[in-house]
Order: sequence, then C-alpha cells, then structure tokens
Amino acid sequence: MQYRTVPKNGDRLSALGYGAMRLPTRRGRIDEERATRQLRSAIDRGVNYVDTAVPYHGGESERFLGRALGDGYRERVKLATKLPPSAVRTREQMDRILDVQLKKLQTDRIDYYLLHALDAKSWAHLEGLGVLEFLDAAKASGRIVNTGFSYHGDLRTFREVIDSYDWIVCQIQYNFLDQETQAGTEGLRYAAGRRIAVMVMEPLRGGMLASNLPEEVRAIYHQSGYDRSPAAWGLRWVWNHPEVTVVLSGMNDERHIEENLATCEDALPGAMAPAELETIERVASVYRRSMRVGCTGCGYCLPCPEGVNIPQCFYFYNLYSTGQNRLFTRGMYGMNLMGGMGERGDAALCRGCGRCIRACPQGIAIPDELAKVRRTLGGLRTRVLLPIARRFFPADIEE
Ligand code: SF4
Ligand code: SF4
Repeated sequence: MQYRTVPKNGDRLSALGYGAMRLPTRRGRIDEERATRQLRSAIDRGVNYVDTAVPYHGGESERFLGRALGDGYRERVKLATKLPPSAVRTREQMDRILDVQLKKLQTDRIDYYLLHALDAKSWAHLEGLGVLEFLDAAKASGRIVNTGFSYHGDLRTFREVIDSYDWIVCQIQYNFLDQETQAGTEGLRYAAGRRIAVMVMEPLRGGMLASNLPEEVRAIYHQSGYDRSPAAWGLRWVWNHPEVTVVLSGMNDERHIEENLATCEDALPGAMAPAELETIERVASVYRRSMRVGCTGCGYCLPCPEGVNIPQCFYFYNLYSTGQNRLFTRGMYGMNLMGGMGERGDAALCRGCGRCIRACPQGIAIPDELAKVRRTLGGLRTRVLLPIARRFFPADIEE
C-alpha cells in the first residue's frame, strides 16, 4: 500500500481511502455481510482511512460502520464523518448530532470531522451559527481529533473557507474533467500550499469515467498501448498530483477493490509519463466536446435572487449530455431539485431577470441554457426518481 502524509499532524494515510457511500446493497439496504467482508479485507491489505457521512445509505452508513469496525478494526483506521449543514439549526444541535454520530459509530472519537458539502450558502449558515467555536470545543473535549470540510461550491468561497480556520483536511471533487470546476486544480494547489491535506472524492465522476465509454475514448485508450482499465487511468491521473493525500473510492465490488488496491501500489506522485498525460488530455477533450455548456463552475453568477444553483444545473446537464450514466445524473439532478444539496436550486426557479449574464466571464446565455436544462432534466422522468434521491438525503437527522 502506498501511504501519504497529512502535513499538519504527520498521520500516514493510505493513498486509497474507503468511501462508505456506495456500499454493496441487497433489496435496497446495505448488504452487511458482504460489505463488512470487503471493508475488513481492504483494511487487512493496508487501507487505513474510512470516510462516511450522515446521509449515506439513507442514514445507515454510520451505524453499519459501527458494527463493521468491531473486532479491533476500529483501532486500525482513521475514521472520518461529517456534520450535515441542512440538519443544523442551532449551535447546541451540533453537539447533539456529534454525540449521536459517536454512538452510531461505536467510538469515543472521530479522527477526522468534516463540515459536509459546503458551498457559499451552507458555509454562511454554519459560520453564523458558531460552527468554528463548536469545532474548537469538540476538539478540546476529545470527541473529534482533526477538523476539515468537504466542498461543492465555487473557487472564490473555497479560498475563503480555507483561510477561515486552521483546517487539517479538505475534501474536494477532483478528476481529469473537473480541473476547472468547483475547487479544481487551483483550489487543490491553494489548499496544499497552506499545508492542508486534500482528500479527493468522485475521482471517476460517479463512475462516468470508468464505464459506458464513448467509442472515441475507447479508441484513444487502446492506441496508447497501455493495458489498463479506464478506472485505472482515471485514478492514476489523480494520484499523479503530489498535492493529493487520499483518493476516496466508493468500492462495492470485490474485483474493483482488487484493481484499485493494485493500481494504488505504484501510482506515485509524478509517476505518469508525458505520453500518458497526453492520452488523458485527449480523452478529456472528447468528453468536453460532448458537453453542452462551457460553464467552469466559478460561481461568479451567484447568488441568483431566485435561488437557482446555476453551476450545479449546468454540471448535471453537461454530465447528462455525454450520454453516460443518465439515470445516475437524473437522480443527482433530482436531489438538486428537491434541495438535497443545500437550498433547492433547480433550473425551473429562473425568472429570466438576466442579472447573472453580466457576471459570467464565459458569456453564457444563462437563462436560455437553464430553460434547456429544465426541459431536459426537470421532467416527469426525474421526479419519479425523487423517492430514491430522498433515501440518500433525508430531510433531517435522527437524534
Ligand atoms: S436570469 Fe435566472 S438564473 Fe439568472 S439571476 Fe435571474 S433568475 Fe437567477
Ligand atoms: S454560468 Fe458562468 S459565472 Fe456561472 S459558474 Fe458557470 S462560468 Fe461561472
């Protein structure tokens, strides 16, 4: 196993982390026996960072980990979970939520405690409620050891959050298609430059970069001469960055776990040759070409007075346009539509005031494009997926 060091505390973490968001399921629930076997086997092979959050698996992921990390496995890993902004209404509630999480996880401390899925709005919400004071107090009491946040907003707010506290880690969405969206490469370097460990989520963009490949992408990989799966290409590209500490993979298939473990062994920082990087760039350009809107996710158009999450809408629209994982993309957009990613932010809220157009450095005709998003993704076929989306983002937390 390859290990990388957290700059501020010296922890040696496995470069491959275990994400507990996409565990194997049976009849809609976590397949506990299989998931426990997979998790323990990964730990036996050297994985020592396990990441979860309140909403994963309809609120069952933390409880599952509490059981699965029995028999001494808990002490062999650093455990990470997160505070869900949408469930917090008072400062006192933060303490109650943390106590429930400790109980569910059957532990007396969370090694890495992150504020979940921050963006400009949820950050302002939590900061206003005194979240930084809560983190200080929770650390002083020993209930949490290290602090961090996961992030899905714009780069400007990312920098602001980074500079607001003495964070140990941050968790960003990063892959070869998201170099300029959300925190992106600039955010990655900004965090690393301040000695903050960067955990990467969605290294394969929810599986989009690993399966159902466009024919042209298949051909490029084939011509490269490397006998390597698309998943291995995508993961290697992320690990190639020295600024990255841990890559989180939601693994639920024994073959994928095996493959990811093997890939991780020699996917060292800077290990990719120029020809390999060129292959990735060619693949990325095929995906980019098939995308509809040239939105970079900078967030300059926000806030919209009607509450439209403009970059998020374009993100899902572009993802959908590539033709892969359309059901998954509809489900994700459905969460956006019902407010599962913070405030309700779907394209149908746009009233066409035009304020955002002036702010967009890419010159995108935002209201017109939003109308296309609404027509493509906002219909009945998305709404029937809402009950499934609700399972992943319950409205409240059990206390
Ligand atoms: S045009 Fe639509 S998206 Fe843009 S600011 Fe106005 S309401 Fe919001
Ligand atoms: S629509 Fe324009 S301003 Fe808004 S996030 Fe995208 S690129 Fe930035």
